[in-house]
Amino acid sequence: MRTVLAGDLGGTKCRYALVGEDFSVHRVQEVPTVREQGAFLQTFDAALAAVLRELPAGLAAPTAAGFGAAGVVRPDGRAMLPAPNLPLGCVELAAHVQRTFGLSTTLLNDGRASAWGEFLRGHAAGSDPLLCLFFGTGIGIGLIVDGKPYGGHANAAGEIGHTTFEPGGRPCPCGARGHFEAYCGGRAITERAAAEIGPPPGGKWTVGAVVATAATADARAATARAILADAERAAVTLVENACTLLNPAAVVIGGGVATGWPQLRTRIEAWVRAHTTAPVHRELRFVESLGGSDAILWGAAAATGALWRPRT
Ligand SMILES: [Zn+2]
Repeated sequence: MRTVLAGDLGGTKCRYALVGEDFSVHRVQEVPTVREQGAFLQTFDAALAAVLRELPAGLAAPTAAGFGAAGVVRPDGRAMLPAPNLPLGCVELAAHVQRTFGLSTTLLNDGRASAWGEFLRGHAAGSDPLLCLFFGTGIGIGLIVDGKPYGGHANAAGEIGHTTFEPGGRPCPCGARGHFEAYCGGRAITERAAAEIGPPPGGKWTVGAVVATAATADARAATARAILADAERAAVTLVENACTLLNPAAVVIGGGVATGWPQLRTRIEAWVRAHTTAPVHRELRFVESLGGSDAILWGAAAATGALWRPRT
């Protein structure tokens, strides 16, 4: 069976594996993301070498490599632009992999890789156009049009989390103010909880802990409910705007915020159905995300073009 080498380069951890043409995933290596560039590349090389060391029976050696990366990827798909979560700005990563492992290499943004995986194997498989929104630490988005991710003119399309929700509002990790991500991103929710509620139960605020606190009779519950009300107002508005702009066939809602706060998906769907025009919502399907990083590996594998061809 044909294979490619695929990777999910995330801000917290990186996963590498062989992906077969039947979507099977083999020889997974998972390593924490290190912030120093030299150390990152050493770990990267060692993990790829470990994936490639022994080929499972029945698998052919990979013919290409693809990586989904947390950040903006250069339009030629050969390197990342400087990103806050990965020390790979200015590293010619595709050339490095080609030189070290002899594999032609493609990079794409991890939101797009994930959306491609959802389109190929997820609950909304084949729905086109497919809009995927991942409410994680930040807000990831991927739009599949004609069977492949839409990138825009300079590969920068889709950063809807960094559009304005409240002019002059809360500071966003990107440096601007009032962006959607500053209200409904996971980092914003937990940072607000730490600042406004106080010490977390169990040592660390998570979105699930904020949701649990909001449900108590505790004096802190009102603050937790106010934080979640802001987050919900931002999330439903964001998805309403995106659906009206793009008229997708299906919407996948995923990410850690959606996992820790399961009611959010239901509320987003109810809001979008009530606040968009009939042609936008009549046949629109809301679908749960596959979750996990395999979707990113499948999307990264698809980006190589070595296993599956996009529809043309
Ligand atoms: Zn922003």
